Amino acid sequence: MAIDVYELCPCGSGKKLKFCCAGIIDEMTKISRLQANDQPRQALAAIERIEKSNPDNPWVGTVHAEILLALGEVDQAQARLDELLKRHPDHPNVVARAALVMLLNQGYRAAQPTILRAFQKCFTRAPEQVGLLALTLYDVMGRSRFVMAARQYLTVAMRLLGEKSRENTFLALLRLDGDSRTAYPLRSVQNLSPYPADGPSAAEANKAASIANIACYGPAGRIYARIAEQEPTHAELWRNAALCRAWDADEPAAAQAFHKAAGASQNFEFAVECETLAQLLDLKHASDRIAPTEVDIPIRSASRLLGLLEGNELFFTLPVEQLADGEAPPIAARRLVLDRAMPKESESGPIAFGELPSIAATLTVFDAVPERDIEAVAVLTGLATPEFEQAVESFQKLADDEITKAPEREEIAASDIEPIARELAPYFRRKLFSAALGSKQRTIQEEWWKHLVEIWSNAPQAALDGKSPTSVAGDAQYRVRLMAAVYVLDSVSERLNGIVDLEAIIARLGLEPLRPLAPTPAEPLSSLSPLQLLRLPVSELSDSQLVNVYRRAAVIGIRRFATRVMEELINRPQCLEQVGPDRIYEGLLEIAHQEERDRDAIAWAKKGREHAARSPQNFERLCKWTLTEFLLRAEDPDDPEVAELFRTLSEYYAPKVPDVARVLEQFVAENADKLPWLRSAELLVASGAAPAPTPGGLWTPSGSPAPAAGSKKIWLPGQE
Ligand SMILES: [Zn+2]
Repeated sequence: MAIDVYELCPCGSGKKLKFCCAGIIDEMTKISRLQANDQPRQALAAIERIEKSNPDNPWVGTVHAEILLALGEVDQAQARLDELLKRHPDHPNVVARAALVMLLNQGYRAAQPTILRAFQKCFTRAPEQVGLLALTLYDVMGRSRFVMAARQYLTVAMRLLGEKSRENTFLALLRLDGDSRTAYPLRSVQNLSPYPADGPSAAEANKAASIANIACYGPAGRIYARIAEQEPTHAELWRNAALCRAWDADEPAAAQAFHKAAGASQNFEFAVECETLAQLLDLKHASDRIAPTEVDIPIRSASRLLGLLEGNELFFTLPVEQLADGEAPPIAARRLVLDRAMPKESESGPIAFGELPSIAATLTVFDAVPERDIEAVAVLTGLATPEFEQAVESFQKLADDEITKAPEREEIAASDIEPIARELAPYFRRKLFSAALGSKQRTIQEEWWKHLVEIWSNAPQAALDGKSPTSVAGDAQYRVRLMAAVYVLDSVSERLNGIVDLEAIIARLGLEPLRPLAPTPAEPLSSLSPLQLLRLPVSELSDSQLVNVYRRAAVIGIRRFATRVMEELINRPQCLEQVGPDRIYEGLLEIAHQEERDRDAIAWAKKGREHAARSPQNFERLCKWTLTEFLLRAEDPDDPEVAELFRTLSEYYAPKVPDVARVLEQFVAENADKLPWLRSAELLVASGAAPAPTPGGLWTPSGSPAPAAGSKKIWLPGQE
């Protein structure tokens, strides 16, 4: 990194570098090069040399601490910074570095006073230093699953770091907003409400807003709460206090403030949104939770274990994806452990959801790595329910001879799987709606979710004072809380790919739906929260609003809302071309596929194909859409249009696209005895490509059992 001698000196003297620490420029440049080239040992030796002649220079000191940090010497780095901090308590670089190191070393709460000081001192004077601190706070919060805090610090980092890291921070933001593990109302944007300039607490509210603006959320939250106590009917003050507390990672306190905001507001929609956030945070921190657990069982041989599982219907095969972590041993197999075998359809007519197996655990079998002295191990993961314990027990019985040591239990970090409030446990009991059930799957899934809604309606809930939704329906004092409970259920079902008819539930409980928003055509709608987005009258939006809202819907992914937005886009050709028609048809297809609406998925594939056919230079797109429609229809080989699509693919595309040829060959291999038309000579696939068991890089409907709850991978033709 080149050092500009006409910039202010990094030592903080306020003079230009040329007239201050000019004597050490050459050496410091050399050191920064060593740091950039990942040679921290050499950098350390060099900085220690300079430090002898410049023992009290904050520039040298902070770089010293930085190098120690790069070497993993966190304690030494902190000691060095503590020393500097004593002599230069207001030096922005010193304060920002000290806060960062303390955060890494002692955690958020212990480091908080220093962190606040850093934001106060450095927000304008050392934006890069403190931007790095904000980025680290985003990381720390994200790991502890304080999602609202993580997002807020990420936006702070984006403001402070500017262009330099925009791309990375923006991608991180999209990942957070689209993370389906987080209930959707807690995701994406939430902004503080402004306080009226002529209000009685304007001065204090301004102060709170300005310190929140420099990321001092703890103190800002305390000021908002104090003035909210003085103006108890000003609900937005309570909401501001709640947001600041959530951003300060004090979620139980945030929940309390959201409850107060809900209680204070006369506006039903505002109250319901605050109460929904409160209930979600309460559930997240409920004292009675079911923890995710991992049981590691060392085994003699992965392949012999798989031999033992072979043909056992309680172990449902999942596709294997190797872990991205290069250190992890290779995965030999993955299975879902079921509590019973999948019933055969022919036995006694249609299957009821009660007969379907529940998923009790996930089994991952790791191969041994002898050269690294790593044994083979079977790992069972799941929520610590009685069904999980049962699964562990039956696995141990089955694998008895292969087990070498007693199983070990490990806690799973909340960043991988979150604990679940016991109240929500019934909905997280996953059923295996396997592809074996074919077209009836959707119906069975619908019945299952009707059953879950029935359970929900009659189960006591902490948010309703231990009463059930049905028993408080019609009681005015529960109106807001009940409506919020409905949205909590909706967010759980969204997360689990469930099918819930929100309007029907609302009507049955005697509630009024939330009133739609009425935005003026000029509003960009980019700061609406997820629950506000749901209230948008999509067909009344201006074109640019619709495109904006689509971009947000595509990230947040609330299926019901995204469907509405995309269907509206199709009615407006000018908008459709702007966002790309393929993406819209693919998005609608994917949601239909996720929801097991096979006919709808096929219809969208057909429309996508027809749209591509009208476009110029469409060979590749037409090929993808034709193949997609064929694969969807081929799930049911009796579909009358399968033959025609097969003909088109084999005549036009297979000769030029090897992947298409492979898919067709596989289809022929699987269906030649069932479908007489496949045997006629003129349909033979013209291709030299060797048949592959799974078509490389191409998606097949039957190739993805995808029972994993919450998986929300949007598939696009042409993508992996
Ligand atoms: Zn200087």
